[in-house]
Formats: sequence, C-alpha cells, structure tokens
Amino acid sequence: MAFTKKTVRDIDVDGKRILMRVDFNVPLKDGVVTDDTRVRAAIPTIQYLKEHNAGIILMSHLGRPKGDGFEPELSLRPAAEKLAELTGYDVKFIEHTYDDEAAEACADVKPGDILVLENVRFLKAEKKNAPEVAKKFASYADIFVLDAFGTAHRAQGSVVGAAEFIPAVAGFLLEKEVDTLTGIFAEPERPFVAVVGGSKVSSKIGVLDHLIDSADTLIIGGGMAYTFFLAKGYEVGKSLQEPDWIERAGEMLKKAEEKGCKILLPIDNVCADHFGEDAEGVVFDSDKIPEDMMGMDIGPKTTELYCDAVTKAATVFWNGPMGVFEIEQFAKGTEAVARAIADSDCTSIIGGGDSVAAINKFGLADKMSWISTGGGASMELVEGKALPGVEALLDA
Ligand code: ADP
Ligand code: MG
Repeated sequence: MAFTKKTVRDIDVDGKRILMRVDFNVPLKDGVVTDDTRVRAAIPTIQYLKEHNAGIILMSHLGRPKGDGFEPELSLRPAAEKLAELTGYDVKFIEHTYDDEAAEACADVKPGDILVLENVRFLKAEKKNAPEVAKKFASYADIFVLDAFGTAHRAQGSVVGAAEFIPAVAGFLLEKEVDTLTGIFAEPERPFVAVVGGSKVSSKIGVLDHLIDSADTLIIGGGMAYTFFLAKGYEVGKSLQEPDWIERAGEMLKKAEEKGCKILLPIDNVCADHFGEDAEGVVFDSDKIPEDMMGMDIGPKTTELYCDAVTKAATVFWNGPMGVFEIEQFAKGTEAVARAIADSDCTSIIGGGDSVAAINKFGLADKMSWISTGGGASMELVEGKALPGVEALLDA
C-alpha cells in the first residue's frame, strides 16, 4: 500500500460536519456541464460520508476567475446541479464562499445534508493560501477532507489551509490516485512497460527520469522522439526538436542503459512536408528523414514493435500520444498502441490531459484499469514529487 495518510475510513465522521475540497473543475457550455467525469469521481466519498451520518460541505474551483468577485459564467451551480442529478441527493448551493452568509449556511448543515459553496477562486487570496482563508475554511467544519486530486499539487487555501487547524484526511479518489500512480514505482507487476510521448522532452524530463528507475522497458514516441534522434546523431528534418535538450536526452539514454531499462525509439515514422489536416503522410526510417519533412506519427514497423511490447507487459503506464493524434491520418500509431493496451489484460494506468483525450476519442476508456483525473498532479507524482495537499493530511 503506497498511501500513507489517513482517509475518511480512519476517522469518526458520525454526526460531524465535514468540509471537503473536491475537483468540480468541469467544462461548461451555456451553463451546462459537458463532461461530468470529475463530478462522478467525487461521488464515492460523498456517498460514504452521507451514509455515515456526516454533514457535508463541498468546495471547489472552476476555471480561471480573475479573483475579484463573482463571475456568473464560472459559478459552481451547474456542478452542484449535476451532483444532485447523478446521485438523487438533495444538494443545496449557496452563492457565497467566504462571507457571513457562507459561514451561517455551513453552521446550518445537519447530518446527511450536502451544501456546495461557490467557486473558491472568486477571491485572490485563496490561491496564495492566505491565513485568513485557511482560518475561515477551518471554522466551517470539524474535519477537512481532501478529495480534489487534480489540485493536490497546489498549496492553495482550499487545498491545504484548513489542515493547519482541523483534522484533515483523504477521500477515496485521492487515495486511489496516489496509490495507483506511486504503486508503479513501489511494486509494479513485471514486466513494467512505460509509454511516454507527447510534444516535448523538456516538459517530460522528470517523468522520463523517474520512470527509468522503475520500468523494464521505456517506449518513446511523439514529438519528443526527435530530440532523442538528435542525441543519437540522426538528422530529423523539420520535425519538432529542442536543441537545448539534446544533451539531457542523451543522458537519459545513458542512464537507462546503466539501470537496465530498455529504451525503444521509433524505427520508422510517418512524415509530412507541413503540419496540417491536408498534409500527406510518407513513411521514412528513423535515420533517413529528409530535411524538408517532419515526423508526425510512429510508422508501421514501430507500431508493431510497440504493440508487441505492451502486449507482453503486466503493467503499462502511458502518458503522451505517439503522434499528432488530433489529425486523422496521424492518429493511427496512438490508436493502435491504445488498442493493444486496452486488449491486453495488463494493469493499464493512463495519465496526462491529451493522452486521456485520445483514449476517450477512441472509445477505450472502459478498457483501461485506471485513468487519472489529474493532469499536472499525476505528472508530479510520476516525477516522484510529493503533493502539498497530501503532505498536509494526517499520517496513517
Ligand atoms: P499529455 O497532455 O498527454 O501529457 P502532451 O501535452 O505532452 O501530452 O503532448 C500532446 C501533444 O503532442 C498533442 O497535441 C500532439 O499533437 C503532440 N504531438 C505528438 N506527436 C507529435 C509530433 N510528432 N510532432 C508534433 N507534435 C506532436
Ligand atoms: Mg498536454
């Protein structure tokens, strides 16, 4: 068990008032929630608390408000309504977060009640975790619960503040996310194959570095592969490349060799002469990319190699698409690898905004073992960093 903090199971919540930070940062269109994944993800803990006779106060941010007051299009009301719709529970909503009205509404919360406060980011001080914000939140309840995995890497008032003053424990989503994403480093079932793609080496260097410590095989795809090619002395034409990161990429290859982590790089690539929907794909081996072409996707030989590797894995962690999956003819590599993972009975863990979007686009989400709800937070865990929100909780 990789999770070392107390959860709602470890504390008496009966008759207590609970302030829970959730991640209801959902996409909205005309005041309607267009993707309710994050609301659904919070339900198990809400249900547990309700069934255990706790009074529940929920808070979250939504979008990026300016921080100087109410902005109607960023109200949490639609998320509160979605929660009511999904659970059938009576969910109250109040257009206040920090004032006397909010405090009174919280004081009124009885066992079994559910109250949702307005967007915590309508006040600038929240992001800075100002002491007055922390004290305010702590005054609303007996116990603080953090279940907002997606913001657990931010030391903001609603994430860490209340934990300074009242007992703070984790919800089930936070526990499961941390357990799953740190578990791949603690005791993965082997072979453990990590698949890392996406656009840049620079944004994934910490992820690559840490995965090399644990994975048996590291598969590299996407735009970042070309900086690795440069490190190996290949020409990459007009492909995405980061000259300042060639040396670090070379160091990663060396480290992998020392640690006995096998690195797979593309052996062929679908290339195009420009970046666009109308671009035509032509396949080139990795050491033969012409100077006027750019790599857009892994090629057919690479796809076979990568699919074979993930099919033989017991554990797969995947972050970052294998190509420019947003354009139909360059989505094949990403889709094939995703299907191979989905069709195998390995434990499959997916993290990262675009990777999750790709899996959803291919309709494969149900076939994966775990799809992380947090982009930035999941990356920080995979880099081996501690999350401030988790650190602030009571030790188990
Ligand atoms: P994630 O959000 O899953 O962590 P990233 O944000 O790192 O993934 O990368 C996703 C982006 O990488 C996508 O927009 C995709 O188009 C881009 N990408 C993948 N392969 C290439 C490539 N060969 N050239 C340019 N961009 C690429
Ligand atoms: Mg991304």
